[in-house]
Order: sequence, then C-alpha cells, then structure tokens
Amino acid sequence: MAKSGGFVTDSDTIALLEGLVRIDSVNPSLVQGAAGEAEIADYVADFLRSAGLDTRIEEIEPGRVNAVGVLEGSGGGPTLMLNGHTDTVGIDYMEIDPLDPIVKEGRMYGRGACDMKGGLAAILSATKAVVDSGEELKGDLVVAAVCDEEYASIGTERLVEQVRADAAVVGEPTEFQILVAHKGFAWVNIETHGVAAHGSAWQLGVDAIAKMGRVQVGLERLQDEVLMKKSHGLVGPPSVHSSIIGGGRELSTYPDHCKLQIERRLIPGETREDVDAELNDLLASIGDIDPKFEGDYEITFFRGPMEISPDEKICSVLSECTEHVTGEKPHFIGGSGWMDTQIIWGRGTPAVAFGPTGSGAHAAVEYVEVNSVIDAARIFERVIHSFCG
Ligand SMILES: [Zn+2]
Repeated sequence: MAKSGGFVTDSDTIALLEGLVRIDSVNPSLVQGAAGEAEIADYVADFLRSAGLDTRIEEIEPGRVNAVGVLEGSGGGPTLMLNGHTDTVGIDYMEIDPLDPIVKEGRMYGRGACDMKGGLAAILSATKAVVDSGEELKGDLVVAAVCDEEYASIGTERLVEQVRADAAVVGEPTEFQILVAHKGFAWVNIETHGVAAHGSAWQLGVDAIAKMGRVQVGLERLQDEVLMKKSHGLVGPPSVHSSIIGGGRELSTYPDHCKLQIERRLIPGETREDVDAELNDLLASIGDIDPKFEGDYEITFFRGPMEISPDEKICSVLSECTEHVTGEKPHFIGGSGWMDTQIIWGRGTPAVAFGPTGSGAHAAVEYVEVNSVIDAARIFERVIHSFCG
C-alpha cells in the first residue's frame, strides 16, 4: 500500500530485491567462467518494459549486457539518470547461501544485497511508482542497469557514449548520505635495470634489487613528506603504496632486473600529470646521487578522482527528499573507493552516489537493511518528480 503520499509498495520493493539477489551475476572478468550480467539485464529490462519504459538491451561484449529504460517526459524539463550496476564480486567464499536470500532481523542476506542490488531494487521500485502515480514528468528519466562496475566499467563507459543527462544518481549503499567526492587511482609499474654478473664479481655486477630499494625509500618519503601534507576535506590525504615486487634470477647472480608494482590513490584536484611529475622527479633525484641507477616507470591503468559542488540541484533535491522520508538531513560525504560516478561526471554530468544501508560488500557475509531499501525507493520516487518536474 502507498505510504507517505507515494506509490512505492513494501511488498513490490522486497520482491524486486529478492528477485535480483536470486540471479547469479558474478562478474566474469573477476571470476573465470562466472555467469555475467545477461540474465539479470533481461530481468531488469522485462520489469522496465512492463512498467511502460522504452527499454533496450545492449550487449557490449558476449554476455556483458546493459539494460536501459527511458521514461520520456512531456518536454522542457531536465533529464535524470538513475544508475545501478548489476554485477557482483565472487561467491565461492560466502558463509550463507549467496543466491538464496533470507531475511533475518530486518536484513536480507545474499551476494550483492548491499553492493548494489538493494540500490537497484530501490531505483526500479521508484520508477514503477512514478509511472503508477499517473503524473507525467517534464524531463526524461533514464534508468540504467549497467555491467562490469566491479572490474573495468565497460557498462557505464558505453552508457555515457549514448545517453546524456542533466544529473545522475548512482545507487551505491551510502546509508542515505550524499557522496559528492571520491578518490581516483593509478596503477604503475616501476622497473630498475642492473647488470647481471657472477655473484663474486662485485666490480661488474649492478644490483637492480638494491636500486629498487632506493625507489622504495623514496616512495615512503613521498608519502610522509609530500602526500600526507595534502588533504581534501571529504576524502583525506592521497597515498602511495607498494603492491607487488619481483626481481633476480638465481642465488649466485647479480640481478639485472627488478619490477615493482605500486598504487597511487589520488584526491580530487590531482591529475595523471601530477603522478607523472612525482615519479619523474623521484627517479631523477635517485639518478643524481647514484650514477649507476637506471629506472623507468609506466602508468598501466588510471581512473581519476571526482568532486561536485553540494550546491548542484541534484544535491539539494536529494537532501530535501531524504529529509522528508527519513526525518534526517543527509550529510555530504566523500568516498575512498572509485565509482562509476567518475565516468558520468567526466562527461560533464553532475553525479552523486546515494543509496541504502548495508554491510559486507565484497565480504563473506553481505546484507542490506530491508527497510532502508524501501525508504531509498520512496526517496528516489520523490527525487524523480522533483528533479524532472
Ligand atoms: Zn558497487
């Protein structure tokens, strides 16, 4: 039954959440041979179609599928995109049956319940509620269920090539706080080059592993003396850490090669060029004091940070609607992990993450608070009416 003047129903929302969790949608780029997003995209597309949205399925790679529905407005209003990823991380290590959702003490357990089928169920339920209200929107509503957020985001990458919106909400679980900023990251390979020689030939050999030691000391200094002094009000300081290291050939030989893989987390305002400058400076400064040092680096993967102003219309609309439904005014927060919001933001669309309350994303026990999914649906319903006009 409709509550607080809206058309979201508890039972429909819970049924949607359960239906989504039941479908295996483990990301096959993370777990070889996993199910992928085709089945769950069909489920979402069927739902959107029967709610009356102009709906299409888009296969980006075999078995890697987006479902996108558009509820066309009468014209003259802004377009809102609600975005949720359908893929999940692996299920092998889960303690409770990951695909047979059970509800205990108000929590629904299962893989993806929190990250982020709860948010997706809320988006779908809200969309149907808007249709059921019979009130025509001025602007368009775009509902996008995207694949591959947990790996390379090929789903949202494709989506933003085709769809333009004036604002977007990604329904990740934020406990009803409005996430307006998050960090980015760079993966970097650093290599040092030495000279292989017999282990006794100190006068010939150049130890590439020892040279990498200089790099590691330099990285630690970069962290302590430079990065810790920069800080962002919502996401804290940037950071750099070593992830994987390898080098050397055999015990009795000077190592001619060492490879270190590092990760650099960026705060809003930092760029790929900043990372380049830091690494160039670091390697050059080692070369200045050690003529036998030879090292280079390559950025192998880069995702930038993002930040939008809390003054954006989507922020004030979300804030008002949340306060109306939950009685509490949300805070503007920053996130440490990277999200699809950055890709949408990168195309000039203000994007935030906002969604229900849960725990255990990527963990052995995952759940979402069922009532928070229903409240999120009620909030999204109001947001759609308010934003699209
Ligand atoms: Zn997620």
